[in-house]
Amino acid sequence: MDSSAFFSMDALPQEDHVCPPGVIRELEKYEDPRLALWGDMVHVSECTQESLSKVEEAAKKSGDLGRLSPVDMTVLALALDVNGTIWSDDYSIQNVAKIMGIGFKPVGMKGIEKVVKWNYKCIGCGKWFKEKYPECPICGSPMKACRKK
Ligand SMILES: [Zn+2]
Repeated sequence: MDSSAFFSMDALPQEDHVCPPGVIRELEKYEDPRLALWGDMVHVSECTQESLSKVEEAAKKSGDLGRLSPVDMTVLALALDVNGTIWSDDYSIQNVAKIMGIGFKPVGMKGIEKVVKWNYKCIGCGKWFKEKYPECPICGSPMKACRKK
């Protein structure tokens, strides 16, 4: 998942997912509220230098190199490493992915069909809530976002 995927998602995908550390840093920079909510459920992984070189080469050939940020490059490289599908609305990422035979799908609007339903659980008294409160309205303990079972 790249940053654009994060920004347009209302829920984490149910499938296994991973993103490079740079994406997390971008979310931190924009103080995106999703990070606080999903932080401990997002899988973060570094890409290999080998894949990064391949991406660079492909992007150079296609003319996308100047339009891809260093973080975008690691998204592509990581997808190559894990043989995954990229979730991104970034045209240059999609273009290089296509060239390299990496699967991709747009995220904005109807891109993602399966979404996780969220509930919030108090870590103190264990009560479930549909909305997120700064603290449990019943006992005042911190709340935790959980996947609906
Ligand atoms: Zn409680």
